[in-house]
Amino acid sequence: MKIEKKSSLYDGKSKTLFETNHSDLVIQYFKDDATAFNALKKGQIRNKGFLNNSFSTHLFLYLKKLQIESHFVEKLSEREMLVQKLKIIPVEVVVRNRAAGSLCKRLGIEKGKVLRPPLVEYFLKDDSLGDPLVGETHIQQFGWATLDEVFQMKQTALQVNQILSSLFEKIGLSLVDFKLEFGKNSKNQVLLADEITLDGCRLWDHTPGESMDKDRFRLDLGKVDEAYEEVFNRLNQYFMEQK
Ligand code: C5P
Repeated sequence: MKIEKKSSLYDGKSKTLFETNHSDLVIQYFKDDATAFNALKKGQIRNKGFLNNSFSTHLFLYLKKLQIESHFVEKLSEREMLVQKLKIIPVEVVVRNRAAGSLCKRLGIEKGKVLRPPLVEYFLKDDSLGDPLVGETHIQQFGWATLDEVFQMKQTALQVNQILSSLFEKIGLSLVDFKLEFGKNSKNQVLLADEITLDGCRLWDHTPGESMDKDRFRLDLGKVDEAYEEVFNRLNQYFMEQK
């Protein structure tokens, strides 16, 4: 079936969603725009839309091969992917293998401390409240998701963590932490949603121990564009060699 792009459904900080001529499918367009600290810091990262679309495509396809279902249907163009239309569960699921970012700030944990087993945290998706940390009981109590859905999200997030940690190890990077989002499709299946990109994970290079992710933008570490490109090239090269 030929997919036709219709009007914009939602214009987010780094992506725009468009309706299509198919009621269950939407187009996710990746922008170069970057924001941090609840959009207090704004900028652009060269080619980010193209890199994130390709990066996410690689990872969603890789996860699918390993039985992790997502909303991804197909890559349509350099900056667009076709995805299932989902009702997004308003909870961000963060998995942490090492302490960094808000965990260190909130609890005074030393940066880089190894977390075994990995720590799973939930944040309410609400910019006006600054995406606060919430517990499983809040999620159930306020009807953001059922306990069964929370269990499914947590299990999937931990599986994704295992798969991606070992994938990134192969290209010389440690997966420090990442954020996932989930949603429900028309059949009420809970699926991995959104994107998996350097905007939503921390990757530390094995050799120099440097951040190779959006922290370069957040913390003004320089060479932001270069880091996005370098990680993409390593991943692309890895998948080319596997063909
Ligand atoms: O800021 P914090 O340390 O809680 O972030 C944990 C992980 O989740 C990081 O990899 C960060 O990039 C990601 N994250 C995100 N979107 C948010 C909050 C965090 O992608 N709104």
